[in-house]
Amino acid sequence: MRNVAGEGQVSELADRQDTYRSYSVHNYEKIPQLDKLCREQREAIEIVGAVLPFKLNSYVLEQLIDWDNIPDDPIFRLTFPQKEMLCENHYKAIYEALKSNKSREEIDRLVHSIRLQLNPHPAGQMNYNVPDLNGEPLSGIQHKYRETILFFPKQGQTCHAYCTFCFRWPQFVGVNSWKFATKKIDALIKYLQEHPEVTDVIFTGGDPMIMKTSILAAYIDALITADIPHLQNIRIGTKVLGYWPQKFVSEKDADSLLMLFEKVVSSGKHLALMAHMTHPTELSTGIAREAIRRIRNTGTEIRTQSPLLRHINDSAETWATMWREQVLLGCVPYYMFMVRDTGAQHYFGVPLVRAWNLFSEAYKQVSGIARTVRGPSMSCMPGKVQIMGVSKVREESVLVLNMLQGRNPDWVNRPFFAKYDADAAWMDELVPAFDEPRFFFEKELEVGHFAR
Ligand SMILES: *Cc1c(COP(=O)(O)O)cnc(C)c1O
Ligand code: SF4
Repeated sequence: MRNVAGEGQVSELADRQDTYRSYSVHNYEKIPQLDKLCREQREAIEIVGAVLPFKLNSYVLEQLIDWDNIPDDPIFRLTFPQKEMLCENHYKAIYEALKSNKSREEIDRLVHSIRLQLNPHPAGQMNYNVPDLNGEPLSGIQHKYRETILFFPKQGQTCHAYCTFCFRWPQFVGVNSWKFATKKIDALIKYLQEHPEVTDVIFTGGDPMIMKTSILAAYIDALITADIPHLQNIRIGTKVLGYWPQKFVSEKDADSLLMLFEKVVSSGKHLALMAHMTHPTELSTGIAREAIRRIRNTGTEIRTQSPLLRHINDSAETWATMWREQVLLGCVPYYMFMVRDTGAQHYFGVPLVRAWNLFSEAYKQVSGIARTVRGPSMSCMPGKVQIMGVSKVREESVLVLNMLQGRNPDWVNRPFFAKYDADAAWMDELVPAFDEPRFFFEKELEVGHFAR
């Protein structure tokens, strides 16, 4: 097969990788590097890990984290729970519950009540984006923007490692009613056939690339062989390039995965891997680079996106380096997101004004070819809101905003203004400029056109 790299190169990359090991809050004591952590850091794994999911694998542990740079290493902060991710009260409550040997049930109740306070389902996604087929709601599928459908395949609702900031953390904590998941590809196909306005299906999770090739292929084959001429783009949202690039290089089913990609491309659909890349370190290993090379050889496009995260990638240098490196490897920078208002947002969040400054500083440093990236952008109730900048209109300082995506497509690409606020970190902290009573889209949202 033409994807396959020189034999020598692949086996060398594969040899360097140990057998796959996975760690969670249940076996974290077996992490070989644990002795490099102070007592407080270990305690945080247990206490924060009781509320927010914790998981990582040997690749992240051995090849991405720089253990001489603990606790500041960005990949360490990206995957290991930090004490400050919970507010003091919550941390203390769990600490005391565990110490005083409360019953499992009592602890579970406490954990659940804390999770409920962490806004598990922001942006109204439980009730607002649910599509329906013959009057029946389709769970595990979201239709928020006219052209685009999100599909959450049941077997793809976990990840190789969990990001500490994860906005989808409720997927991973074992509460079934919080989870988006479905196996119903036939229902998706029927829905698509009734909705000619939809051009894009995004497989998302969790991480759909965690599925065996044979399972992913069953979903994708069904889509490309069904009669849906208006379906143009199949996207797969994934963190696997960062957390387990072996998937494309040395795993048993790597070659059949690449063949599946080729098949999609030759069927005439555009296949895009929406790669979640948080830090340039993820691109630094030979195996990650080889994975990118192989994916691109199939005709698949790689687009990159990540939130801007305090303690992890909140420097213009980091982003400029990341975008340059991505372009060099043939990836297309796509979005810089703001951290969503869920989970540990207070720890990872960056104020909007600072985010815009940082984005601009990075954007200025790269050539036009990397300026395909858009942001910083908030995925909130009305849509994706981009912070365009700070300006002054008739003596009033304002934030200029723009809708990159809207629940109502007519809202898109329409600049609007909020009162300047240096501390605001999310849309709901902003108020309209010029003493307007509300933002232009709010009335329509309130009327509830969009709720089920
Ligand atoms: C970002 C996003 C998409 C994809 O939007 P594009 O602008 O087409 O990339 C789809 N659904 C939801 C809910 C999103 O937040
Ligand atoms: S890879 Fe995505 S879904 Fe998985 S933990 Fe990270 S942010 Fe969450």
